[in-house]
Amino acid sequence: MVDYAKAISMLVNEQRVFINQNTPKWVVLHKTAGMTTVQELGNYFATTSLMTSSHYGVGLDGSVAQYVLEKDGAAGNCCTEVGHATFLPDAPGSSGINLNMCTISIEHLDPATDNSSPVTSQQQQASFDLIVDICKRHNIPMREGDSTGGIITHAQIDPVSRSRCPGNYPLSELWSYLQNMTQTTKTRDVVCLGGETLETIAHYVFGNSQAVQELEVLNKGTTVSTVFTKGQVIHVPVVTTPVTVTTGNSDTLAKLAHYGYGTSADMMIQKLLSQNPSVLPAIGAAPLPANLKIIL
Ligand SMILES: [Zn+2]
Repeated sequence: MVDYAKAISMLVNEQRVFINQNTPKWVVLHKTAGMTTVQELGNYFATTSLMTSSHYGVGLDGSVAQYVLEKDGAAGNCCTEVGHATFLPDAPGSSGINLNMCTISIEHLDPATDNSSPVTSQQQQASFDLIVDICKRHNIPMREGDSTGGIITHAQIDPVSRSRCPGNYPLSELWSYLQNMTQTTKTRDVVCLGGETLETIAHYVFGNSQAVQELEVLNKGTTVSTVFTKGQVIHVPVVTTPVTVTTGNSDTLAKLAHYGYGTSADMMIQKLLSQNPSVLPAIGAAPLPANLKIIL
């Protein structure tokens, strides 16, 4: 079973991967410098004595194949070389750090040994779609990589031997595509009460404290460890489907309305009460019992 619904399954033998050892933080972009189809690349990964692999291959015709499950480490970019991007840890091969255990690798088929073949429009769109899907599922920031994660190139890991990987891959188009995608999201503002993190906000906005990735993209300069001060304004997407929030120890209807609707005005408290008839019409400010499921 593949992780990406549109991918053809060409999973390599488990002996060739780091089973259950991947916690993805970065997506690494590669080009193959040889070979034409995703099937050809899959056959190579399945049989090469070099034991190299990547999670995905994207063909010139836009087809996508998966070779390694995302929960497993592929064998494509273990080790850094001198001059690697400074936000990446030193992983010279002897330090015990293996970048295959925190990355998802995507190969792009290019028959030219110097990775100079034009990226076709089908290949570009298939690649962008795949990147967005991976980032969403793993909470990887949908932007140029930095120390908190994101999308990077093989050349940023290995600037000496892989300076042409991924060659002419359309990086600037990728950055603007991702930026446009996040900019077209309708947003509203949440004024912080003080002490919140993105996880706190995600808990009330999405009903899931793990879903911080979109908030991180919408609020430049924030990370999961940022603690917000009173009065700070956070942009959150307008969610059009009902969200179920499980109450904690000090939740009130006013607090739920504040985060969920952007205001704790009486009207919104009434809306909460009418949507949750099982919740007693308590005074807005009174604490609610923990573990109630409230529909926003
Ligand atoms: Zn590469």
